[in-house]
Amino acid sequence: MDTLTAEQRSEVMSRIRGKDTRPEMLVRRYLHSRGLRYRIHNEGLPGKPDISFTPRLIAVFVHGCFWHGHYPCPRASIPKTRSDFWSHKINSTKERDLRVADQLKGLGWDVMVIWQCEISPSTLEALYEKIAARGT
Ligand SMILES: [Zn+2]
Repeated sequence: MDTLTAEQRSEVMSRIRGKDTRPEMLVRRYLHSRGLRYRIHNEGLPGKPDISFTPRLIAVFVHGCFWHGHYPCPRASIPKTRSDFWSHKINSTKERDLRVADQLKGLGWDVMVIWQCEISPSTLEALYEKIAARGT
């Protein structure tokens, strides 16, 4: 019952396409279309997770490959000009991501990261299944 047929899945995806295509919005709209309700950018949590499920204690971050340094993803290659600036900036983002994940885990939260380049109907479905498996 939790798994969509290929047809239903492409139906869901076609409703999702064509609006705001930022990775975070794609993930939010998909999970919402599957009936999950969540908080966005909860200021009460370390790192203000993009999406959080309070009773389930699951925090989801949707990371842009470039800004969060998805090595060795091709989308994350450092520009040749001002490469020191970019390396430094992206490294501090990565350090912050690690710190935030540790803080959340310390508070009993599960942290799930979905990378921009990994977003597809099947990874969204897998993410949904993991969250839904946790009950409400
Ligand atoms: Zn990537």
